Amino acid sequence: MDPEKINKKYPKEFIDLIDRIRKYNPQVEKDIPLLWKTYNFAKKGHANQFRLSGVPYFAHLYNTTIILTELSMDTTTICAGLLHDILEDTEFSKKIIANEFSETIANIVEGVTKISDIKFNSQEDRQANNFRKMLLSVANDIRVIIVKFADRLNNMRTLDAMPKSKQKRISLETRDVYAPLAHRLGMYKIKSELEDLSFKYLQSGQYKFLKKEVLKNRKSFDEYINKFKKIIHNSLIENNISAKILGRTKNLSSINKKMNRQNKKLDEIFDILAIRILVDKVSDCYAVLGIIHQQFKPITERFRDFIATPKSNGYQSVHTTIIGQEGKNIEIQIRTNEMNRIAETGIAAHWKYKETGKDMDEIDKKILWLRELIDILKHDPDSSEDFMEILKIDLFKDEIFVFTPKGDLITLPQKATALDFAFAVHTEIGFSCIGSKVNSRIVPLNTTLSSGDKVEILTSNNIKPSYNWLKFVKTNRAKSRIRRWFRKNEYIESVNLGKEILDKKLRKAKMTDKIKIISKKYEEMGFQTQDLFYQSIGKGEITIKEIIDKLCKENKLSDDEETKNKKFFPRFHKSTSKGVTVQGVNNIMVNFDKGCNPIPGDDIVGYITRGKGITIHRSDCPNIPTEEKELDRLIEVSWDKNIDYTFYSHLNILSENRNGILNDISNVIKNMKTSIASISLKSQDTVVQGNIIIIVDNLKHTKNVIKKLKKIPGIIKVERT
Ligand code: MN
Repeated sequence: MDPEKINKKYPKEFIDLIDRIRKYNPQVEKDIPLLWKTYNFAKKGHANQFRLSGVPYFAHLYNTTIILTELSMDTTTICAGLLHDILEDTEFSKKIIANEFSETIANIVEGVTKISDIKFNSQEDRQANNFRKMLLSVANDIRVIIVKFADRLNNMRTLDAMPKSKQKRISLETRDVYAPLAHRLGMYKIKSELEDLSFKYLQSGQYKFLKKEVLKNRKSFDEYINKFKKIIHNSLIENNISAKILGRTKNLSSINKKMNRQNKKLDEIFDILAIRILVDKVSDCYAVLGIIHQQFKPITERFRDFIATPKSNGYQSVHTTIIGQEGKNIEIQIRTNEMNRIAETGIAAHWKYKETGKDMDEIDKKILWLRELIDILKHDPDSSEDFMEILKIDLFKDEIFVFTPKGDLITLPQKATALDFAFAVHTEIGFSCIGSKVNSRIVPLNTTLSSGDKVEILTSNNIKPSYNWLKFVKTNRAKSRIRRWFRKNEYIESVNLGKEILDKKLRKAKMTDKIKIISKKYEEMGFQTQDLFYQSIGKGEITIKEIIDKLCKENKLSDDEETKNKKFFPRFHKSTSKGVTVQGVNNIMVNFDKGCNPIPGDDIVGYITRGKGITIHRSDCPNIPTEEKELDRLIEVSWDKNIDYTFYSHLNILSENRNGILNDISNVIKNMKTSIASISLKSQDTVVQGNIIIIVDNLKHTKNVIKKLKKIPGIIKVERT
């Protein structure tokens, strides 16, 4: 359309808007009918509404949209900006907006409306969580966030009309949620203004003071920069470089933070001068750097090249600090105009290219991560590998984000394991957890998770928590649940055992008639409940002899019988011999070699260690020392005939990779009334390799399990390790 015609037909306000868009998007002409329709729709829709200041509500929509043009947003976003409060404040439905305009516009408007409903937590440690909430609420389209930031910025700019209490609340949320999010999204310009505006309302006195001081300093700062420009001016011309040299002042809020955090005086802060140099080409950045370093002495350790290695959010620039005139330090950023646009608008910079149909260039790809992340999050929870790559950027320093098979997001601390995940999903899932799949691969429960992992927990009703779990879980939740389980279950076990010991022991002593009487006299023994009394017996804290001595003085047990009594405590008073007789000697410190894990039935040999008792090896174990001088440390050992001790047996499994194999394996083991201490399978293409530790009584037991496992279809090999 001819600009002349536009001027005649449209109000000035609308023409201003189009002029702003035309500056960055010459193709706006074709969109003018749509923009005009949207403009009118919004204006009429909010016709009788006013802001607290008395200004027509439409002014907020218009000015929010102006901010979007400063971010060079596409026509769709501009329309969404004009309509962003239409669902919340008028009777129009999403469907009407979709019909009148487009599905995309309606989606963005709906997304912005949804964010308004989110309750943000303004504690610093919850920021990642806020970010997540916002991400998920806008899962359809990143432009939702951009419109929301423009909306918030306009609201902050017009906060004066609000009552004081509202000013504080909105400013707090802006400072603690919106500004950090804008920062993470690389939208530095918006971030910096949001920070200053919230600073203004939260600490008005300090704000006014700093503002005045900065103004006072501005003049000498400008003079200093002019001198600097003169010094490098000739070199720039010689090299045919056109460069914009801008003085950079920190925003008031960061000056304030710096004063507080580093306890610096205002003079010291003003002493650090900052300059930004904008050029056309990347090669010019380095040329300018060379020119500056020729004239001034650089502080080498402060040099950073973010052009060669951009920051994860796409930020590129060369940073150097030099010792300038009068010995003052000057921080200099050198970048191209394009890099500057990205540095200031962050994710918003992405949309320019999309609109004009250019191919994505390198820089653009770097910003694409967020859109991809959201796309994947929403539409394709299965492609977690890509997702992981995208999330590797240092977005969330202390937290990782992983997914359930259904795509629900679970937040865990860094280094959390698959087992932590299980407990985070549900305590019962944690307790019945036998293994896990991370990104469709079976891994051990102690596997450390990374952001973007899709985690599935394999459960079984026959599994019990293991003490070993406490060694690797990272979350307090998992730790406390596991500990509580042990406390509870050990208690029950001790109570039952204590009851049994009391019963058997008294029968043996021909005191059957006393069982009932004694079991009721727990208070005389100093216990508040009968269970606590039993528990103490079960744990071996009090002996039957002591009980009889105290309660029925006429029946004395001999010490010999008392020793036998102790044999009732196989679990809790672990016999140090662990079922192994060493040349007829009992009660000697015995350990089993971790490499060969001997179990009763195996041919064994003992090795006297230096200070750690005797290590028992299978006689064919390659770990037995064979040097001449070691030989006299080997001693004969044999299995005790009355073993009341269980053993870990390590099995190695090779199988075809088919569905349900893990389930079949664990079922076979369970059906043999055998406990699994740990199971981990790893699939590699067509085969699955696994390590299983089962709890057995002896070799025969293990052999039976192996025999049954070999019968499972698809199993290639099962052997002890
Ligand atoms: Mn609004």
